[in-house]
Amino acid sequence: MSLQTINDFSIQKTEKSKIDSIDFENVKFGTVFSDHMLVCHYKDGAWGQVEIKPYGPMQFEPSSNVFHYGQAIFEGMKAYKDDNDDVWLFRPRENWERFNKSAERLAMPQIDETRFVDGLKTLLQLDRDWVQKGKGNALYIRPFMIGTHPGVVAGPSSEFMFCIILSPARTYYSGKVKVQIAEHYSRAANGGVGYTKCSGNYAGQFYPTKLAQEAGYQQVIWTDDATHTKLEEAGTMNVFFRINDTLITAPTSERILDGVTRKSLLDIAKSKGLDVQVKSIVVNDLLEAIKKGELKEIFGAGTAVTIGQIEGFAYQDEYHQLPEIADEDSYAVMLKETLQGIQTKAIEDTFNWTEKI
Ligand SMILES: *Cc1c(COP(=O)(O)O)cnc(C)c1O
Repeated sequence: MSLQTINDFSIQKTEKSKIDSIDFENVKFGTVFSDHMLVCHYKDGAWGQVEIKPYGPMQFEPSSNVFHYGQAIFEGMKAYKDDNDDVWLFRPRENWERFNKSAERLAMPQIDETRFVDGLKTLLQLDRDWVQKGKGNALYIRPFMIGTHPGVVAGPSSEFMFCIILSPARTYYSGKVKVQIAEHYSRAANGGVGYTKCSGNYAGQFYPTKLAQEAGYQQVIWTDDATHTKLEEAGTMNVFFRINDTLITAPTSERILDGVTRKSLLDIAKSKGLDVQVKSIVVNDLLEAIKKGELKEIFGAGTAVTIGQIEGFAYQDEYHQLPEIADEDSYAVMLKETLQGIQTKAIEDTFNWTEKI
């Protein structure tokens, strides 16, 4: 099935592109949006027309489900441009499948690959000038779905909107961050929604993250809700630890989001012959390793920044600084360079992850 076989497919182009007013060199992440967006509504048990139209405000009933009961999920992905001006997606079907997993858990309808992946490609064709080439440049893609049925009856919505918006993004080297290990608050719990990209997961993180920031740390390392000892995620990223020359990350679970960056880094690390272990790691492992001088690196992994290095962590009011590591000795730097190289086609994609639009 292709988009063209969906009868009601429409494109309404903007009368005047905003692109000349954008300072791509200095754009702040997530603040500027491209000329067009994709919109599709679900009603009477089926998805309807796919509309691509100028980006702009929308109208909803104040009683819409999303405003009261929070049926809202999203995805985060990027498009890259190579030196030949071709535009590439990175493992887009992983995001589509994860979107549907999130939808299932939030009692929202599944969306077909044609509307999600082919719809996205059509939108990107139209806004391809918004994908800048050069190292660190990308177009951030934000697909999302919300419950739109009016009425404050507490139950799942019967009407939904699926939408994709695009935002130019530049990854700067923002320096290493200090983190605080969560001892009281939780991001996720067994049986909960931690493995989904539902909006509420983020809302629930803002307050504990604000407290950590007030204490001088930029992010929180989330621990398991039952014992607060297992190290599970770093802010909104998956988290990796390097002890001696072993790279460790927790296995995915109901509490941990199955990140595309995480699984790609694991494959790259293995292909480079690194010692990789997917296993639960607890605070005491970390304290012991740092005491022995064996803790070399900690980093977060996610689409927005690819890899974010962590320079130290606080636990029980004590701060532990990691030793300095030169870029040429760092796993984080090597993995980031390799992944970004594959994404931008500077390095051969032996994994078959990239897809031309
Ligand atoms: C989105 C997200 C990630 C990273 O997933 P990617 O697919 O690598 O972008 C990790 N943890 C949480 C909680 C997330 O929401």
